Amino acid sequence: MTIDNYDFSGKKAIVRVDFNVPLDENGNITDDTRIRGALPTLKHILDKGGSLIIMSHMGKPKGKVNPKFSLAQIKDAVAKALGCDVKFAPDCADAAEAAANLKPGEVLLLENLRFYPEEEGKPVGIDKADPAYDEAKKAMKASQKEFAKKLAGYADVYVNDAFGTAHRKHASTAVIADYFDADNKMLGYLMEKEVQAVDNILSDIKRPFTAIMGGSKVSTKIGIIENLMDKVDNLILCGGMTYTFAKAQGGKIGNSIVEDDKLDLALDIIKKAKEKGVNLVLGIDCIAADSYSNDAKTMVCPVNEIPDGWEGLDAGPKTRELFAEAIKPAKTILWNGPAGVFEFDNFTAGSRAIAEAIVEATNNGAFSLVGGGDSVACVNKFGLADQVSYVSTGGGALLEAIEGKVLPGVAAIKG
Ligand code: AMP
Repeated sequence: MTIDNYDFSGKKAIVRVDFNVPLDENGNITDDTRIRGALPTLKHILDKGGSLIIMSHMGKPKGKVNPKFSLAQIKDAVAKALGCDVKFAPDCADAAEAAANLKPGEVLLLENLRFYPEEEGKPVGIDKADPAYDEAKKAMKASQKEFAKKLAGYADVYVNDAFGTAHRKHASTAVIADYFDADNKMLGYLMEKEVQAVDNILSDIKRPFTAIMGGSKVSTKIGIIENLMDKVDNLILCGGMTYTFAKAQGGKIGNSIVEDDKLDLALDIIKKAKEKGVNLVLGIDCIAADSYSNDAKTMVCPVNEIPDGWEGLDAGPKTRELFAEAIKPAKTILWNGPAGVFEFDNFTAGSRAIAEAIVEATNNGAFSLVGGGDSVACVNKFGLADQVSYVSTGGGALLEAIEGKVLPGVAAIKG
């Protein structure tokens, strides 16, 4: 079943979206990309005569009610984006009546699902080492099913359009699907597009394939780095990871970010790349700063000769050239993670060089996929988001999909 061939007329649709938008200290939305991302699905259902029950999580309230993470804060923004009134259910597990009263064209937004521990299905207040943990987990899984069943009871049809949480087997992203038959559950447009983009990267690789992995740590990216090693021609590892590699090879890295327990892993990655004939591109020079701040004093130096008291915060000019050389001729490109502390305006050059090279390659016919919160923030910051082939809304979900893992949110619907 797809959203295009389903008859929504007179039906109540419960739609899992990812409205986990960033808010400032006054509760104002600072980036509404995720709300805009869900609009095609939501508007389609309303246009076809359905009514909407929208559900999402926000932040990490850890199973407790916390006004800081209330979706009431975004109700008006959702109403504005949809161009209609939005009703609000202040308790997502007590919304049966509000849902039953919905008329075609009406919209009900449920309060944050994660105010209930059942959403994530992890037992609270008990340590994994506790002998009673397994029992607690079993009990929680049972109440997670009850919670999912309750949500399912609000609607005739279930639509999952939350790619950002598709790698989680939560009540609203996967378990709920068990309570709808195959004809009454489907992926939304955003999910379909994301799944297709991953498919383009994995199954239809036009070469050369260049992957760029950045960010602060090797440890959180190791799964995907190892997986990509079998697929790519060029692998650029940048950002904070640079210094773990430099130190592993005997370099002096000053105060740069480093994972001392991952030095062997870094050497292993270098060895594997050689064995597999992958062109591994690591930074050779950096912009070092005398403090972790936008206004720090800076100098360009080799990544393996950073003086004490200085730390590498961005890629240097020679490195940026190496990156561009590996990106520009590529026909398939994946970018996840910045090449420097791009949040500071004075340390954006490495990420900007990557983004610009990707745009050039895309103009020359490459398929380019940019994913993960920080790389997306980069292309947005540089005004280049509409000049790459696809900007993914998924961070962890995108990486797991590219690692070849089956996403529970997709499997729950597609089997
Ligand atoms: P991650 O969450 O692992 O994808 O990392 C993203 C973060 O890495 C961003 O907030 C960047 O500021 C940070 N980052 C990138 N390069 C560096 C660096 N050289 N030193 C410290 N942090 C960095």
